[in-house]
Amino acid sequence: MKKHPLEDPAVMKKVEDAVRKTNEHFAILDEINKYSKLVEKYTRMRKDAEQKLLVSCPHTATTKKEDHFPGSYYDREYWVITKKCKTCGKTLSTETTTGGYG
Ligand SMILES: [Zn+2]
Repeated sequence: MKKHPLEDPAVMKKVEDAVRKTNEHFAILDEINKYSKLVEKYTRMRKDAEQKLLVSCPHTATTKKEDHFPGSYYDREYWVITKKCKTCGKTLSTETTTGGYG
């Protein structure tokens, strides 16, 4: 009488290997999903902390950025000086200085 294929140890080992590989695959997907949820959670927490920073920041460290817009026959040239807080990124002031015609 012919044996059932699963009674063959070689076939049974192949089946067990396939099951183990599939289980490992799903375990990895679960792990990735778990970390994705943690990333979402910490991103939300970071945003909340950044909002608190905007309120509490004394804006002591600042940066100045100067943008120049050249003039033409009809338009005066002008500079826009933007002062931003280095810590929280808030724009503290914007000054425009007008020059001559181009
Ligand atoms: Zn600030």
